[in-house]
Amino acid sequence: GVAQNTYNTGIWSKMDIQERSHIMNNIAYTLKNHLNIFAFKESVQTGRPIKEMEAQMTRLPEWFEYYASLIRSKVDTCLPFKGDFVNYVKREPLGVVAQITPWNHPLLISIKKLAPAIAAGNSVVIKPSELAPCSILEFVKLCESSGLPKGVINVITGYGPTTGKYLCNDSRISKIDFTGGTDTGRIIGEMAGRNITGMISELGGKSPMIVFDDVDIADVVNGTVFGSFIASGQTCIAGSRLLIQKGIYDKFVDKFVEKVKNIKVGDPLDNNTQMGPVISEQQLNKIDQMVKNAKKEGAKVLCGGNIINNQLNGYYYEPTVLEVEPHMEIFQEEVFGPVVVVHKFTDEKNAIELANNSEYGLGASIWTNNIKIGHRIADNIDAGIIWINDHHKNDPCSPWGGFKNSGIGRENGIEAFHEYTQTKSIIVNYSSNTTDWFSNSNSNVRYS
Ligand code: NDP
Repeated sequence: GVAQNTYNTGIWSKMDIQERSHIMNNIAYTLKNHLNIFAFKESVQTGRPIKEMEAQMTRLPEWFEYYASLIRSKVDTCLPFKGDFVNYVKREPLGVVAQITPWNHPLLISIKKLAPAIAAGNSVVIKPSELAPCSILEFVKLCESSGLPKGVINVITGYGPTTGKYLCNDSRISKIDFTGGTDTGRIIGEMAGRNITGMISELGGKSPMIVFDDVDIADVVNGTVFGSFIASGQTCIAGSRLLIQKGIYDKFVDKFVEKVKNIKVGDPLDNNTQMGPVISEQQLNKIDQMVKNAKKEGAKVLCGGNIINNQLNGYYYEPTVLEVEPHMEIFQEEVFGPVVVVHKFTDEKNAIELANNSEYGLGASIWTNNIKIGHRIADNIDAGIIWINDHHKNDPCSPWGGFKNSGIGRENGIEAFHEYTQTKSIIVNYSSNTTDWFSNSNSNVRYS
C-alpha cells in the first residue's frame, strides 16, 4: 500500500531526472562516509571476515553513482516508422517492484537491485533474508536522510515461505527480482506466472575455473584459491569446479592444496582471519552431508572434509578440496560452502565438454597466457559471466546473470535499467492529408 501510494503521487516516479540523479549521488556520498559501520554489520550478521566486508563495502557507492549518471545520459529512440509519422519510444517505470534477497552478500545484492530500480522511478518492497536483515534496514534510513522520499524503498522482514510468498503473490507487484537458490526460483516463478508479473532471477551456479598448461602456477593458484574460497565459498559465482590441464595437473593440485591448508579460519572480527564460518547450522549440515555422499561415491579428499569443532561461536567447515569424476553429485550440485572439486582435462575440446556438463551456466574463468585459447574457450562456454585470468570481478556497468538454470535476466549495466522500465511507443501523425476510410471514393489509403 505505502509503496503503491508513493508511486502514484509521482513524488519520485515523476520527479525531474536531474533531481533524482542528484539524490542518487547524495546516497552514494553518504554511504561512503558510513562504510565502516556497514562492514561491521555485514560481518556480524553473516560471519564473513571483517577484512572481506571492508573491501566489499568500498565498491557499493559506485552502483548509485553509475545509475545517477545513466539516467542523466540515457537516449530515447525515434524510429523510422513508414509514412509521415514520428515514432518516439520512452522508457517508463514499472510501478511497484518486489526484491527478494539472500544472506550471502546482504547489502551488495540489495544495492545491485535497488540502484537501477529507483533510478528508473519505481517504488520497491524489499524482503531480505531473515538470516541477515540488519544492514538493509539501516541502509534505507541512510537513503531517506540523503533525500529519498519515504515510501520509495520499503523493507518487510519475515521468512520466505510466509512473508516472501505473500509479497510475490500480490497482484500489485509489477516485477519480482530474486537472488537465491534455484529451487526457490522455481517456486517464485510459478507465482509470478500466475499474476503475469515479470521476473529477474539470479540463481545457483557451479562455475568452472579452467586452467591451461601454459600458466604461471603460483600466480594462478593464488587467483583460483580466491575464486573458490572467498566468502567461505558461499557465493553464487564461486569457482567450485577446478578443471586443470593434464601437463600441470599434479604440480598445480599440490600447490593449490598447500595454499588451501594455510587459509586462516577463525573469528570474523579478527583482522587476520581469512575465512569465517558458514551462515547457519542447516547450511553446515548440508555441506557435511554432500561431502559425505561424495566420499561414498568415491571422491578422494585432498584436504579438509570435516566440520571444525573449535571454541568459537559459529558453524565452521574445513576448506576442502576433493578429486572427483563428472558423474558425481558433488561435480553437478551447488554446495554453497568451502568445497572445491578438481578434475583433469586433456585438450580444449575436453575442457569445453567438462565445463558445459552442468545444468547451471552462471560464471566461468579461463586461465591461460595464450590469447587465442582464452577467446576460443570463452566463445564456447555456456555462461553469462566469463573471466579470462581472473574470477569474481564485478562492476556496476557489467551485465551479470546466468544461462540455463542459473537464472533469467541481468543485473547491472543498462540491461538492469531496461529490466526496471517498460517502453511506451508514441506514434505521431504529421501528414497534411486527411483520410476517411468510410468515404465512397476508391483512393488507396494506408491505414495500417
Ligand atoms: P533461498 O533461495 O531459500 O533464500 C533466498 C531468499 O528467498 C531469502 O530471502 C528467503 O527468505 C526467500 N525465500 C525462500 N523461500 C521463499 C518462497 N517460497 N517465497 C518467497 N521467498 C522465499 O536460499 P537459502 O538461504 O535457503 O539457501 C538455499 C540454497 O540456495 C543455498 O544452499 C545455495 O545453494 C542457494 N543460494 C544461492 C544464492 C545465490 O546467490 N545464487 C544465495 C543464497 C542461497 P528467508 O531466508 O528469510 O526464509
